[in-house]
Amino acid sequence: MIQTIEASPDEIYDIELEHSLLEANARLAKENRILLDGHGITGIDIMGAIGSGKTTLIGRLVAKLKDRLGVAVFNGDATTSSDADLIAAQKVPVVQIATVNGCHLDANLVAKALRKIDLDGLRLIFIENIGNLICPAEFPLGSKARVVVVSVTEGQYMVRKHPHMFLGAHLVVINKVDLAEAMNVSVAQLAEDVRILKPDIKVIPTSCKAGTGLDEVAAELLAI
Ligand code: MG
Ligand code: ZN
Repeated sequence: MIQTIEASPDEIYDIELEHSLLEANARLAKENRILLDGHGITGIDIMGAIGSGKTTLIGRLVAKLKDRLGVAVFNGDATTSSDADLIAAQKVPVVQIATVNGCHLDANLVAKALRKIDLDGLRLIFIENIGNLICPAEFPLGSKARVVVVSVTEGQYMVRKHPHMFLGAHLVVINKVDLAEAMNVSVAQLAEDVRILKPDIKVIPTSCKAGTGLDEVAAELLAI
């Protein structure tokens, strides 16, 4: 069963990046983190462009992990429930966070989603952000780690064009590497672009289609 929460109008339209708003968000994010820490849960914020493969990656990781530990998923989506439906088929707790065309998740929406599920027994919560590489970076959610998914289908310069997003990330997944040759994109150069921005960051190439790199991503997330 999928539960749904929806942004109310004041939550949608009040998104100018005013200092007070960002401060309020940061405060709520801290509260989310305290709540998660208190339950021994690691929140993982999955960010990336539309079509980068966030939902598929989460689905593959859930399939790998759900029999070993408690996993839940929050799917941020501007309008549809297609992502949440996909994950819910795996019989794990899912909350769809409908932002009603809002272009990012915020800590308030995540706080509301956290109130929808039983936190006891959970070890990981994947939080799929809205497909957007700009403003999600400004809004911490209370997660312990932020993962950016970039796929080779987005071209060679995604990392250089969105440095802010990568600077705030703990892990970068370069997805759809099975298509790199067809797209004429160098995975090594994408990884190098990330390392130039943030030398100590972990970069893992994956193909959700072929199943490569997924064990490494799972191990990395469990070690956080
Ligand atoms: Mg998705
Ligand atoms: Zn936004």
